[in-house]
Amino acid sequence: MNIETQHQPDPAAFAAAVESLRRGLGGEALTATDEGYDAARAVWNAMIDRRPLLIVRCRGVADVIAAVRFAREQGRPVAIRGGGHNVAGHAVCDGGIMVDLSQMRSVRVDPQARRARVEGGATWGDVDRETQAFALATPGGLISDTGVAGLTLAGGIGWLRSRYGLCIDNLVSADVVTVDGRLLTASAEENPDLFWALRGGGGNFGVVTSFEFALHAVAPP
Ligand SMILES: Cc1cc2nc3c(=O)[nH]c(=O)nc-3n(C[C@H](O)[C@H](O)[C@H](O)COP(=O)(O)OP(=O)(O)OC[C@H]3O[C@@H](n4cnc5c(N)ncnc54)[C@H](O)[C@@H]3O)c2cc1C
Repeated sequence: MNIETQHQPDPAAFAAAVESLRRGLGGEALTATDEGYDAARAVWNAMIDRRPLLIVRCRGVADVIAAVRFAREQGRPVAIRGGGHNVAGHAVCDGGIMVDLSQMRSVRVDPQARRARVEGGATWGDVDRETQAFALATPGGLISDTGVAGLTLAGGIGWLRSRYGLCIDNLVSADVVTVDGRLLTASAEENPDLFWALRGGGGNFGVVTSFEFALHAVAPP
């Protein structure tokens, strides 16, 4: 998500805006002086050392909408953290707003419909644990702690590919917060152009707050 700007914020005005944001959040908003800031900006690749102006640790869709709107108001770039596994460190940016979904990891399985609803910060380990309780699975990656979001949005190649295809072949729909702070559902029927873009286009079309996947019968190993 590119919300361009290049000026340094007025410190007092920025602090007041952060306080106002915090009052409406379910999660936290961390600046460089807050405890937990360094842990929250760390990603899988330990060589990445970027310092966002603000890290919004989202608890739900309302927090994501608030974070995206805040970034627009402040004219700041946005980085979205799913599992934080991207080697180039695209989940974290210098001087922008990091929308951190690492606390949004719920997975809900409907065994009858063979569908799983997965929040945007979940890992493949989170998904496999819930789906395997019903001897079901959807194609994920090779490693349990890779994020569902970044892997799926890039296509997603894993253990089940030869039988059930890529992750995106099994994506049924996605809930997306767009750059203007609206929540849309993207599927073959609803906003099909956005759905097409999400299926392999990478992470720049909005913040995916949840994914709906088709499940298949796969006995636990
Ligand atoms: C150890 C390791 C093993 C891997 N194994 C595989 C594998 O088996 N198969 C495979 O296909 N790939 C694999 N990969 C590559 C992996 O798919 C990518 O690194 C992917 O970006 C990781 O997703 P993430 O959510 O953890 O990443 P993040 O670093 O959190 O994000 C990656 C990108 O996606 C964007 N993004 C994250 N969350 C969202 C969201 N909710 N909405 C919109 N955009 C978002 C970010 O802004 C960033 O641009 C592996 C990588 C590593 C490091």
